[in-house]
Amino acid sequence: MASGSGSGSLMWFRKGLRIHDNPALERAAQSTKFLYPVFIIDPHYMEPDPNAFSPGSKRAGLNRIRFLLQSLADLDLNLRKLGSRLLVLKGEPSQVLFRCLKEWDVKKLCFEYDTDPYYQALDTKVKDYASIVGIEVFSPVSHTLFNPADVIQKNGGRPPLSYQSFVKLAGQPSWASSPLSVTISSLPPVGDVGGCEISEVPTIKELGYGDIEQDEFSPFRGGESEALKRLKESINNKEWVAAFEKPKGDPSAFLKPATTTLSPYLKFGCLSSRYFYQCLQDVYRNVKRHTSPPVSLVGQLLWRDFFYTVAFGTPNFDRMTGNRICKQIPWNDNDELLVAWRDARTGYPWIDAIMIQLYKWGWMHHLARHSVACFLTRGDLFVHWEKGRDVFERLLIDSDWAINNGNWLWLSCSSFFYQYNRIYSPISFGKKYDPNGDYIKHFLPILKDMPKEYIYEPWTAPLSVQTKAKCIIGKDYPKPVVPHDSASKESRRKMAEAYSLNQKLNGKVSEEDLKKLRRKLEEDSEDTKQEVKTKRMRQKLIC
Ligand code: FAD
Repeated sequence: MASGSGSGSLMWFRKGLRIHDNPALERAAQSTKFLYPVFIIDPHYMEPDPNAFSPGSKRAGLNRIRFLLQSLADLDLNLRKLGSRLLVLKGEPSQVLFRCLKEWDVKKLCFEYDTDPYYQALDTKVKDYASIVGIEVFSPVSHTLFNPADVIQKNGGRPPLSYQSFVKLAGQPSWASSPLSVTISSLPPVGDVGGCEISEVPTIKELGYGDIEQDEFSPFRGGESEALKRLKESINNKEWVAAFEKPKGDPSAFLKPATTTLSPYLKFGCLSSRYFYQCLQDVYRNVKRHTSPPVSLVGQLLWRDFFYTVAFGTPNFDRMTGNRICKQIPWNDNDELLVAWRDARTGYPWIDAIMIQLYKWGWMHHLARHSVACFLTRGDLFVHWEKGRDVFERLLIDSDWAINNGNWLWLSCSSFFYQYNRIYSPISFGKKYDPNGDYIKHFLPILKDMPKEYIYEPWTAPLSVQTKAKCIIGKDYPKPVVPHDSASKESRRKMAEAYSLNQKLNGKVSEEDLKKLRRKLEEDSEDTKQEVKTKRMRQKLIC
């Protein structure tokens, strides 16, 4: 055991990588001689996986790993300013934590409450251990505006399934009546770390990634300092905040995105959503008029809390099977189409440019996410939403279990939103915002010389135009993987059949039922093809 420690407390950072509005950190620092601020690197999450489809670990793309390391380095710097430092350890988190608790004779363990299933399981294990060995645990809710469990309780034990009912139930956050604590003047010193192996925050190279060549780096730099700087920039523009209406934003704006771009910082808790909310309320108090939920900026934070609440209260929220709020739909298992989408080779420049932005930046505008998620699922390709979710989960910097799954359920018309006839066109939707195709030209430079008349449908350009633009369709850039008009019509038909089956069986659709429906849809489609053929032949004969 480390000498001289005695009554230590341990602050376990996971998300919540910040000093401001961090109730777990504040409590950890109270009445203690020594404070051990710890972050545990889980090799499973951080170390390179050569078999993954993109650079990164088994679970996360490189952009997110880099962002996390930058956030840790910034946290360490900010802790040092307060007389402390970040202790970085490596290994399976619960094993490493138990060893530290023992070695440092910790009496108080503090960490932010986390609703993700991964942390729910881990935290139960940790709390059980702490209770056996007599360590006090403090695990406050500070990642969201509300405690999801409270909202669920208010609703009789079930999560509210519409945004409106959520907003009504949630009301005003209880903490919002007085200003949040956002500064700490100093922290207790770190005690002797004994035999525990502590390292500095590793670099990406030290994790084994080597020099990765990239022609465009993600514009997001991780850390609380950057988060607060970006927040200030947004908040200072009071007119913009007051007039913010999410659906009016331009998804193709990339030089100056139409939204705050704060999601990566909220994901890792470099920025407190509660502090963000408080700043927005301060702006609203000082302007004559401002927009309201669901379209306002506060409305966006409420969307976040809405998905957290439903996700927390819904078993199997992240899958179709066994998920009571998810429609059972006979998605196809077409890996070729999935890979074309994932690798930005659908032949639809609007879709492919968004997927390239996902690779390069790890972030896209909400409506851009709508476009590609709809295209993959109920719009054109009819691929399972879970497969698209996995790609987003890996590549987004803001990748968030509750929000990502919630939005995939929404976009695939599996839950929350049911108007499957409303399909985003991969051609005209983007054109509305960006008729010149500047967004496409930036992310898909192969099309940079394509005239704007053809930029959204390059396969319609005459060969002479393609030659002049140095981009032959089918050779330099793919032809469309499916024709949008007929593919989307076919998707609507499948959705209609699936919805009617779900209704008939009152949601209790079995694997077998889905198999049968899949077979029927295939046969119908064969029949249609045959009918068209016969019709054409008849017409030929008449001619
Ligand atoms: P702003 O418009 O400035 O909003 C401020 C904050 O509000 C965001 O940072 C975010 O925390 C929250 N927010 C905004 N829109 C939503 C929404 N629809 N649902 C929940 N919270 C919202 N967002 C994630 O943070 N992580 C994800 O993994 C994620 N996956 C998505 C997957 C799909 C298929 C879709 C359609 C959307 C997804 N979103 C996700 C939601 C949304 O697109 C992003 O939160 C938003 O684009 C982030 O940009 P911003 O910070 O500039 O947002």
